[in-house]
Amino acid sequence: MTDYRTLRVALLGAGAVGSQVADLLLKHGDELADRAGAKLELAGIAVRDLDARRDVDLPRELFTTDADTLIVGSDIVIELMGGIEPARTQVLHAIASGADVVTANKALLATHGSEVFEAADQVGAEVYYEAAAAGAIPIIRPLRDSLAGDRVVRIMGIVNGTTNYILDRMDTEGADFGDVLAQAQALGYAEADPTADVEGYDAAQKAAILASLAFHTTVPLDAVHREGITSVDAAMIESARHAGYVIKLLAVCERLAGENGGGESISVRVYPALVERTHPLASVHGANNAVFVQAEAAGDLMFYGAGAGGVQTASAVLGDVVSAARRHIAGGIGVGESTRANLPAVPIGHVITRYQITLEVDDQPGVLATVAGILSEGRVSIATVEQTVIEQTPDADDSAAATGSATGAGSARLVIGTHKAREQDLSETVERLAASGVVERVVSVLRVEGN
Ligand code: NAP
Repeated sequence: MTDYRTLRVALLGAGAVGSQVADLLLKHGDELADRAGAKLELAGIAVRDLDARRDVDLPRELFTTDADTLIVGSDIVIELMGGIEPARTQVLHAIASGADVVTANKALLATHGSEVFEAADQVGAEVYYEAAAAGAIPIIRPLRDSLAGDRVVRIMGIVNGTTNYILDRMDTEGADFGDVLAQAQALGYAEADPTADVEGYDAAQKAAILASLAFHTTVPLDAVHREGITSVDAAMIESARHAGYVIKLLAVCERLAGENGGGESISVRVYPALVERTHPLASVHGANNAVFVQAEAAGDLMFYGAGAGGVQTASAVLGDVVSAARRHIAGGIGVGESTRANLPAVPIGHVITRYQITLEVDDQPGVLATVAGILSEGRVSIATVEQTVIEQTPDADDSAAATGSATGAGSARLVIGTHKAREQDLSETVERLAASGVVERVVSVLRVEGN
């Protein structure tokens, strides 16, 4: 075997991902050495509990609860503890000690990325984080390196497997959100506390990371507009299907042309959106992830695969470890994050997209004209309208009669597809519709993405 230089690797965390990383490092050490040009010596594994059960058998003598000591003298520190603290402190400690850092920690990078990257810049270290967005899918390196000569226009990502699993099952089975969530929890696809996934927090962290890279701009988490999927119900899914769409939780990162002579800006947002069934993102099923990138020169690109899973994510982490090792061998300072463009992120009200508005209205002559008038006044142009009469149950008829309601006429459902409109105009118009005498209920307002 070639006489390689040995690099000392410290692993912080041996949970779902960390234990797999340790296993692969130990199992494939010789192969990895040939690829990295250095022998990767796993110097130790820091955990909280030395007696905790691990997913794979690992040599007990590698384990320690003293991460601080393990970090000192390491060439590469792999942070797979998750959360903000002590991960943040230990990543900064690793950088200050002269190590390169590999992390999968989206929460840390989305909230303290600038601090971490600046610390690395100051000492010429590098931070690798391929696994922090979309798990095993190579997307960080393509954005950072392969597309460095291009201009990314838009990214649309399905970056949360749990919500894609839930929406996909609602779509294929007609099931309701609560039932599918309960099943997903029983099968281990969703956490006991599903908030981070179903409310879009996890996707928002990944959106901030992807947008920062794609637009060479630091995008703080609070610049990401976020909506989850808890309001999506079986009727919305069915209505979407009927109109040729599927509902996906999307992370959308978009470059916006300058308005009124102003410069370029960006929009970063996470929400459930309608995607045409013919769009490549519509065919992303189960807990899989996909990131659809549109670049000026390259055109449309799609990256697809496992967005989570211990061993799958370990693949991305080990790719980073090999890159870090190669850099150590080659020498020189690390390439810092490019934030030169420094584009402002606009609020959600500035976004321009298409919408589908579903209303319940009085089934009376003139109602459609009133609704169309309110939309037109609000600068929202109608592309399609579908009206269906809502069947009234005998009970409903009785209660209408008992309350002497209107003319006794029933209700109708209007599904209105709009041309592109500005979000602020749209939301003000929907408020006026809701307050008008003819609209009984605004059933849903969904953005249409992918056109
Ligand atoms: P996990 O299963 O919860 O494992 C966390 C590990 O960190 C455990 O071994 C734990 O030790 C250790 N740890 C936690 N706090 C510690 C502390 N204060 N001191 C020392 N060790 C500590 O987490 P995971 O699922 O492997 O995720 C790790 C990272 O990868 C996270 O940032 C996550 O967001 C990211 N990620 C995960 C996935 C995935 O599919 N799981 C996918 C993409 C990215 P004990 O075992 O002793 O408790």
